[in-house]
Amino acid sequence: MPPPTGRPPDPTSPQPIPWAPTFQALLLAWFRASGRDYPWRRTRDPYAILVSEVMLQQTQIATVLGLGYYQRWMAALPDLAALAAASEPEILRLWEGLGYYSRARNLQKTAQAVLALPNAAFPSSPAELRALPGIGPYTAAALASFAWNLPAPLVDGNVARVLARLFACDDPIDRPPMQAQLWAWADALLCRAEPRLYNSALMELGQRFCTPRAPACLLCPVQSLCPSAGPSAASRPRKSPPRATVALTEHALFALHRDHLLLYQESGRRRQGLWKFPERSPAETAHLPEILRATYAITHHRVSLHLHRSPPPDPRPGETWHPLAALPALPMPGPYRKALNQALAQMPAQA
Ligand code: SF4
Repeated sequence: MPPPTGRPPDPTSPQPIPWAPTFQALLLAWFRASGRDYPWRRTRDPYAILVSEVMLQQTQIATVLGLGYYQRWMAALPDLAALAAASEPEILRLWEGLGYYSRARNLQKTAQAVLALPNAAFPSSPAELRALPGIGPYTAAALASFAWNLPAPLVDGNVARVLARLFACDDPIDRPPMQAQLWAWADALLCRAEPRLYNSALMELGQRFCTPRAPACLLCPVQSLCPSAGPSAASRPRKSPPRATVALTEHALFALHRDHLLLYQESGRRRQGLWKFPERSPAETAHLPEILRATYAITHHRVSLHLHRSPPPDPRPGETWHPLAALPALPMPGPYRKALNQALAQMPAQA
């Protein structure tokens, strides 16, 4: 039987979905035969699962695993106690290149909060997990289902896309009423006998078949139930119009003096504690030779970084001289690390 289309009338009192058992059976049969093997699926350790979930919130699996971020983090900080006691530079250095650095800081706050609980262990219920700092509804549900196999529905970006297509939803899914609807659908479809397997399967369906731009409907294990299957599937889900991209230009100094480089430590919320080149106004850098130009994106900004070779300036607040030998251990945002390596590689030619 094909699934109903459009929105059910009230997400707070979802109706049973007649095709849910068939959907669960098709999804689980496919996943048992073809699901991927990731390190976080081989463990029931909530700490290891939490690290993977937080890393994957804004980052592809290919980066988290393929570039070794997860493996390096778990080798350096294998448990709650190690993370709780780690220094901020160590944490930020392990996270360097993943962006959204508040995730790393929040992970440490979570570890410290868990260790402060009476039994110094993670609670298992989603409600208690959500009370911990840095853990939202998705992460709480992921921990409850993956670590303890509890029947907790979850919605992340992949699952939201799958659900919008399965329910032929044409309303923007990033608005609060539709967010509530997505969670209600996830709850109504959840396989309560096998929540760990089911949630993993639903997320992987979104990663491998129900992709944003070119869903592979012909190969999809639940195609027979999906009203969106076909060439027009990519038109769902709809979202509110994105913010326009804003172009910015950033002028910064490459000030090298007696094997020391002047760097500025960020204090803003997004990159707090990370080091970057000291910024100056266009007028202050107009007379300095430009040694490198690079572009990078951050949120809705597209930044053009102009790096100028500079004689040693008087450091301003937040700016410190660092020996070249110490630079590899300093946490830096990815675009600045790349620019630093390029600038250092040019040094003999610039000297
Ligand atoms: S049939 Fe296509 S649109 Fe429907 S769930 Fe599968 S991949 Fe997504």
